[in-house]
Amino acid sequence: KKLTETTVIANLQSKYDTIDETKITKFTDLPLSTKTLKGLAENDYVEMTDIQRQSIGLALRGCDILGAAKTGSGKTLAFLIPVLEILYCKQWTRLDGLGALVITPTRELAYQIYETLRKIGHYHDISAGLIIGGKDLKFEKRRMDQCNIVICTPGRLLQHMDENPLFDCVNMQVLVLDEADRCLDMGFEQTMNSIIENLPPKRKTLLFSATQTKSVRDLARLSLKDPMYVSVHEHA
Ligand code: ADP
Ligand code: MG
Repeated sequence: KKLTETTVIANLQSKYDTIDETKITKFTDLPLSTKTLKGLAENDYVEMTDIQRQSIGLALRGCDILGAAKTGSGKTLAFLIPVLEILYCKQWTRLDGLGALVITPTRELAYQIYETLRKIGHYHDISAGLIIGGKDLKFEKRRMDQCNIVICTPGRLLQHMDENPLFDCVNMQVLVLDEADRCLDMGFEQTMNSIIENLPPKRKTLLFSATQTKSVRDLARLSLKDPMYVSVHEHA
């Protein structure tokens, strides 16, 4: 069983370099795990949006990404699909601890991401959790070490990093900074900087934003390594 899985993964990964963003239109055109493809199909995700088409292949190939696309353009799947695939290819299990961290500015956005992840990640054997405050900190603390993917707001995450001995990010593979412009607008710049300083440098980072401001570029400089720029403009 293990051997077949390893072969399947190697086969998928061998196709990453041949992904041609100009030719693909559907999620099924990408070399994705059967688990992800099933989760997408069952939730009627068929055609990719522009930001998804342009960024998923790059993220699978291991690039850091600085992505800009307006609200409603489908940025959530543009990062959740690579997160699931990266952990799947590493044969991540519940025992491997925190594998991916998604930081988003508000509780509402965190819930939405969590719901989308539950849908498309349904067939993966990976646990996800919300760290967003407004809940019992003790409850969050105990659950923290059982989560493979954590979706969080900046303030609450930093609180766990500072106070929770069970918070362990040494194995973390992927960091997602969602709605980075809004995080900064809400005054989280210092918090974000402190969080990034605390994370293992050997990781992939995907940064998405609706707008490209100077403060977003500053955050990008601090968090990304040789990023690929993906920007989707509205057609006039
Ligand atoms: P953004 O983060 O860029 O504002 P979202 O990821 O929240 O956008 O997506 C906006 C809406 O579009 C959501 O309701 C989502 O379910 C839907 N959506 C995203 N990608 C697709 C797709 N490929 N096909 C159909 N609907 C999609
Ligand atoms: Mg979004």
